[in-house]
Amino acid sequence: MTEPLFDTIAIVGLGLIGSSIARAARAQGAVRSIVATARSPQTRKRVVELGIADKVVETNAEAVEGADLVIVCVPVGVCGAVAKEIGPHLKAGATISDVGSVKGSIVRDMGPHLPKTVHFVPAHPVAGTEHSGPDAGFAELFMNRWCILTPPEGTDAQAVDRLAAFWRLLGANVETMTPDHHDLVLAVTSHLPHLIAYTIVGTADELETVTRSEVLKFSAGGFRDFTRIASSDPVMWRDVFLNNKEAVLEMLGRFNEDVSALTKAIRRGDGEALYEHFTRTRAIRRGIIDAGQDTPAADFGRPHGHDD
Ligand code: NAP
Repeated sequence: MTEPLFDTIAIVGLGLIGSSIARAARAQGAVRSIVATARSPQTRKRVVELGIADKVVETNAEAVEGADLVIVCVPVGVCGAVAKEIGPHLKAGATISDVGSVKGSIVRDMGPHLPKTVHFVPAHPVAGTEHSGPDAGFAELFMNRWCILTPPEGTDAQAVDRLAAFWRLLGANVETMTPDHHDLVLAVTSHLPHLIAYTIVGTADELETVTRSEVLKFSAGGFRDFTRIASSDPVMWRDVFLNNKEAVLEMLGRFNEDVSALTKAIRRGDGEALYEHFTRTRAIRRGIIDAGQDTPAADFGRPHGHDD
């Protein structure tokens, strides 16, 4: 096993992402010691039971004392308040990072509370599931997924390289970009798809002509694939839309134009336009599989045999 990259890591927030980092960091020997904390006594107790940290403490301030790497793994909307809390307790020379799904607001909300003596390197592992909490995490979550770093201008290059090495050790590929560009890219690859899923599942639920039991019974026609995304954590996603407003509205505008174009094609019976569009989108699915970001198995590999 390689030398640990950091001596002590403090993880603030032990949900899906925080607990996955704890598990992966330990599995890979990335750090010597893991200190964890979470908001509620229930989560802290569960983390002790799971044994995924070396030490579980009650407060955010206590967690970060003496840590070489601090990763804040809480919903985007509370990252600023957490930064304010931990700012005065950070060790000089430490690296402070996060995992928030929006980056512009993180830089804006966390940055001002952090002392000049630390290296602030915001990050977003583009990996997740629809589940939450410390039990939902697993060490392999970041394997072959991307982690995007968005260091503010002038950040110490060595600190950025070290955090990149940490994420690579956890199995991720690393890319660096500006917070604004990150927010545009994620608006179309993650935030808009979630909004569409939340919308369509709500729409189906509110129909009068089709019953709820019919929607559930015949969901294998496509609907159920949206329900996975639409069951994602409501707090996390509320915060994403509140904090990436501009980019989401921009992508939503384009989406609405494209829905209008398809609506027109259906109304006019323009089979050629529909066929051309669906052929183009099929190629994108193939591209995702070629990029190793999904399985080529039909129907996401769901079992179809009678013996399963
Ligand atoms: P999660 O499973 O719901 O866990 C959130 C953690 O934050 C919990 O430990 C919770 O503590 C703590 N927390 C919540 N509100 C807090 C507050 N006001 N003050 C202090 N701690 C608080 O969430 P997650 O899925 O790990 O997401 C965490 C972050 O990762 C979010 O910023 C999200 O944008 C980002 N992210 C998520 C995904 C994904 O797919 N889920 C992927 C990439 C990045 P308690 O348990 O005690 O309430």
